Amino acid sequence: MGQSMVAITEPDCTGCDLCISHCPFEALLPLASNPKNRKHSKRPIIVVAEQCVGCLSCIGSCPTGALHEVQTPIDASQSPLLLMPKPPETEPVNRWKKGGIGWA
Ligand code: SF4
Ligand code: SF4
Repeated sequence: MGQSMVAITEPDCTGCDLCISHCPFEALLPLASNPKNRKHSKRPIIVVAEQCVGCLSCIGSCPTGALHEVQTPIDASQSPLLLMPKPPETEPVNRWKKGGIGWA
């Protein structure tokens, strides 16, 4: 059995931010800007591939079903999420300082 990872179907992500606090590894972060021609007015969340360990804790937190599991092949030497050409710029999220969103 291969390793599980999580990916986001961007058109289904409303940018509600509910999933962010469900990731213990801070692998879910908002994009720094909203891509053009997006139907939602708020920027989407992305999976930061280097930080996602595939624990799947976040899967049930998305009200639109935008988060989904992806399987890596048994003999894969790296996550398919790492095949993205260049990690996009993300917004900082305050998790643990005063007023931070903490852990769900
Ligand atoms: S699978 Fe786990 S590590 Fe990856 S984004 Fe979801 S909660 Fe975070
Ligand atoms: S919970 Fe779902 S819709 Fe909301 S920001 Fe996360 S992925 Fe996007």
